[in-house]
Amino acid sequence: MSEAAENVFCFGGTDVNWIILREGTDLTLIDGGWPGDVPAVEESIRSIGQKPEDVRAILLTHAHIDHMGAVEDFHRRFATPVYADPIEVHHARREYLEQAGADDVDKGPMPQTQEWWEKVQKVGATKELKIDDVRPVGAGPLDIPGRPIAVPTHGHTSGHAAFHLPDSRAVITGDALLTAHPTSLFDGPQLCPWFFAHSLQDALAALDALEVLDADVILPGHGDPLRRDIAEAVGIARRHAHDSGYDPSRKA
Ligand SMILES: [Zn+2]
Repeated sequence: MSEAAENVFCFGGTDVNWIILREGTDLTLIDGGWPGDVPAVEESIRSIGQKPEDVRAILLTHAHIDHMGAVEDFHRRFATPVYADPIEVHHARREYLEQAGADDVDKGPMPQTQEWWEKVQKVGATKELKIDDVRPVGAGPLDIPGRPIAVPTHGHTSGHAAFHLPDSRAVITGDALLTAHPTSLFDGPQLCPWFFAHSLQDALAALDALEVLDADVILPGHGDPLRRDIAEAVGIARRHAHDSGYDPSRKA
C-alpha cells in the first residue's frame, strides 16, 4: 500500500491496482481487482481502519474483468452505487464485450504472457461478470468522497475514463497509462500492451486528455504509482508507443 497523497491510497492485487479515496470516514473505491482479489480489497480497506460498508461510491475506469472484482461484489452485497463513463455503462452491463480472450493472449511476448494468463485464470480471468445498475458520471467534481473528476480517455475500451484529483495533483489513469504490466517488455510510463486495447488509435489519442491535467502523482491500473509530471510521463509513453505494439495497421 502507498498513501500517494493525503487520503489517497493505492493498493495492488494480482498485478492490478485499486485506489481508495477517504473523506472523514467515507470512502470511494476506484476499481476492484480480479474476482479473486476481493478478499485483498477488503483487507486493504481494513488496513486503513475502515470497513467495506464505509465505501459510499465505486468508480470503474473500465469494465474489464481485472478491474471489476470488488466492484461487482460490493455492489451486490452492500448495494454500493457504481459509476462509470456514460459509454462504459453499457460495457459494464455486457451489452457488448471489448475484452481480450484466450486467442489474444497468443499475440503477447512469450513466455511471460502465457505465464501471466495461467496466473490470472486462478483469480477469475474467464469468469463472466456484469453489473446492470451502473450510473453514468457527470462532468466536473463528482459528489462522492474525494470529489474526483472523470476524464474521458476512450480507446483502451470505448468508454474508458481516468479520474483527476486536482487538490492532490493526482490522476488515476486506469489502463489509459500504465507504468508496467507482466506482459510488457519494459517498465516506465507506457500504453497498455496493444492486444488488450479496443482501439489503438483512440488509446493513443486519449493521452492528449491526460497530458493537459495538473498532476504529478500518477496512479495507474497496472504498475507502481509514479511521482512525475503527467505531461512528461505521457511524452515517454508516446515515444514507446511502437514498443507497446501501437502499430495502426494491427487494428483499425
Ligand atoms: Zn487492466
